[in-house]
Amino acid sequence: MQKKCPVFGKCGGCQYLNLSYEETLKKKQKELKDLFGKEYRLHPIQGMEHPYFYRNKVHAVFDHDRKGEPIAGVYREGSHQVIPVEHCLIEDEISGNIIQTIRGMLKSFKIRTYDEDSGYGLLRHVLVRRGFASGQIMVVLVTASPIFPSKNNFVKALRSKHPEISTIVQNINGRGTSMVLGNREQVLYGKGYIEDTLCGCTFRISSKSFYQINPTQTEVLYAKALELADLKGTERVIDAYCGIGTIGIIAAKKAKEVIGVELNADAVRDAVINAKRNNCNNIRFYCQDAGKFLVEMAEQGEKADVVILDPPRSGSTEEFMDCVAKLAPKKVVYISCGPDTQARDLKYFKKLGYVGKEVYGVDLFPFTKHTETVVLLSKHKSDNSINTRF
Ligand code: SAH
Repeated sequence: MQKKCPVFGKCGGCQYLNLSYEETLKKKQKELKDLFGKEYRLHPIQGMEHPYFYRNKVHAVFDHDRKGEPIAGVYREGSHQVIPVEHCLIEDEISGNIIQTIRGMLKSFKIRTYDEDSGYGLLRHVLVRRGFASGQIMVVLVTASPIFPSKNNFVKALRSKHPEISTIVQNINGRGTSMVLGNREQVLYGKGYIEDTLCGCTFRISSKSFYQINPTQTEVLYAKALELADLKGTERVIDAYCGIGTIGIIAAKKAKEVIGVELNADAVRDAVINAKRNNCNNIRFYCQDAGKFLVEMAEQGEKADVVILDPPRSGSTEEFMDCVAKLAPKKVVYISCGPDTQARDLKYFKKLGYVGKEVYGVDLFPFTKHTETVVLLSKHKSDNSINTRF
């Protein structure tokens, strides 16, 4: 049965919540058809059996209402007005409950929520991440100042209400920016990170690292990507935009060697530890812009057999794709959370001789307008042999 949300249309999180799940899948399929349909064979999008409460990362902005009561929720779409959200249909329920508990504790601890206009107050955001496989939970309290009065008692009280919490981190974000997390962090309880398992490998996740928000569907996605890569154990693989190394570490079991490249230093630190944690000795990580890194590899005359790329929603760059062609892999597996930028990039890849035939959609973000797609590109055999005869 279709579920209703009181803030639908205001929060902007689930654009398609007015439709049944089947209808959302049809709509997404049609969107992919419009983007890829003419040139590619489009497979039916892989949906979820239980498409609710799938987000393993829950973020709430803190503010107060006119009566001074603390509220936790989301910014109204396109504004900085906070709309209270008490129960979200796509977010992990345990994480959502922790956020509500924190909201309820603020008054007795005399913790004021941060006011963007005046700059007064302490608590700006709370972020909760839960490893669905491990059950480990990380709570990140984002504060405007490092001074957190009675923090030890606060942590103790929160833990007694939610003994399932594994770690609590204070992140300090004093700047007037729209970024949620600042650079400074202090671990208030536990290890400062959590672990989770995907495709049989265990990964460490810290507060600022990227980690796929829907682990159930991520396993479907990674399995498809690796099926397309069809590794035999002899290949040199590049995992570009690798985050905490998930795809590369899973692929390394079936490859000779893997090279991961990622811009976010925290994610790379997690990736290096993750490789050790999974006894993976045939992977190396580099903290660099993926495009610049490939330019250097190409300049040094390096080659690769398979390139897997999973760029952010903005897609890849011509610099990156030009260098992929120079590394001359047999296969390129392009994973994308932005099918429109992927369609743009596929056109460019085609000019470079890398051609895809089929598009696989995976519904990583049920009830939102977003879809994840994977495409295998193979090196098109050009007619160079004919040209060189003359
Ligand atoms: N493959 C990973 C991460 C994908 S998200 C996974 O499945 O978990 C995209 C990643 O690209 C993020 O970790 C982001 O930090 C990284 N990124 C963004 N711009 C980048 C760039 N120019 N060069 C390298 N990595 C970049």
